[in-house]
Amino acid sequence: MEALVPGSQTSSLLRYLDLPTNGAVIAEYVWIDGNLGIRSKAKTLCYKGEIEEVTLKDLPIWNFDGSSTGQAPGDNSDILLKPVSIYKDPFRRGKHVIVLAECLNNDGTPNKYNFRHDCELIFEKHKDEVTWFGIEQEYTLLDQFNHIYGWPKGGFPEPQGPYYCGVGTGKVNCRDIVDAHYFACLYAGINISGVNAEVMPSQWEFQVGPCVGIEMGDQLTIARYFLHRIAEDFGVKVTFHPKPLKGDWNGAGCHTNVSTASMRAEGGLKVIEAALEKLGARHAQHIEAYGEDNHERLTGRHETASMEKFSYGVANRGASVRIPRSVALENKGYFEDRRPASNIDPYVVTGLIGESILGFVDGVDMYKKYVDSKKE
Ligand code: ADP
Ligand code: MN
Ligand code: MN
Ligand code: MN
Repeated sequence: MEALVPGSQTSSLLRYLDLPTNGAVIAEYVWIDGNLGIRSKAKTLCYKGEIEEVTLKDLPIWNFDGSSTGQAPGDNSDILLKPVSIYKDPFRRGKHVIVLAECLNNDGTPNKYNFRHDCELIFEKHKDEVTWFGIEQEYTLLDQFNHIYGWPKGGFPEPQGPYYCGVGTGKVNCRDIVDAHYFACLYAGINISGVNAEVMPSQWEFQVGPCVGIEMGDQLTIARYFLHRIAEDFGVKVTFHPKPLKGDWNGAGCHTNVSTASMRAEGGLKVIEAALEKLGARHAQHIEAYGEDNHERLTGRHETASMEKFSYGVANRGASVRIPRSVALENKGYFEDRRPASNIDPYVVTGLIGESILGFVDGVDMYKKYVDSKKE
């Protein structure tokens, strides 16, 4: 008999999930660590009498040991968790909640790896432009031994071609995980806009958006958390590495779609073009902060542009930025920044785009904060 896959017994959990909890509600606090990993821990919330629905104001500031997550030195290790957004919990269900938290140092200042704080200031300043984002999160599934899921042991599948939006055994793997994730996102109130199988087998994509300003980073972070949690149930790993396999296999990105109120208004195409000129002027800074190992992906092949030079074009999937054909025809709409890698911090990317196309906020410099976070 084959050994049990870790996580494969979670169906037994169903026997316990509807046990009454004597009025207690569980809040799972989720945060981003010092290495773009996601961490979480649970807290029991007790209220006098029954609570109808937990809201943000019911949630206390909490803390954790930052020396165990790469976020603080051992001699000053407490990091505070400040709740910033709340979602229905698709795992525990009922009144239980998932809480996204920002990390603060114990003096109340934002932690070195907390890019959300600055990102929020940027979109707060430019809130009149109601910036919409939509991120296409690509990812790759691995088995317990870090092999790409379902690939022949010691070999390769047939070359790319039949897998993108593929249907049928041998073309796609783990559609169960993808659909479980889709339902979990919808249940929790994430603006998931779709899913599709990608060009490389066992690579998939989900899209989150449109989301206004800071909500883009929040919703994408929670959607990533759900994906890791769900893959646990199936004994499968998720990697957001931008080039999980060298060679003639597609990499994984986070295409970032962007529009401001004036881009969506009549004649907005010229606003888009003006914004792209500004974006191009800061190409090097954007590229540096658009994901680690992104140079392995942005080669100018496999539907990417080279990272050396900024380019944009209508319907061009080989440019840094694509203006969709429909946008050119309607003379308004949005653009797609194709440069970000699948392992980006979404607050860094949306914040940088906001600064570059809408303008800087006093005391905030996302590029500088990113570069500083890489220093010891
Ligand atoms: P692609 O054709 O590049 O594969 P997708 O359909 O995968 O595009 O994703 C497009 C993303 O763009 C979605 O997340 C969608 O919500 C988002 N989007 C659509 N319209 C806008 C807009 N006006 N502004 C910003 N994002 C948008
Ligand atoms: Mn897509
Ligand atoms: Mn894609
Ligand atoms: Mn795209």
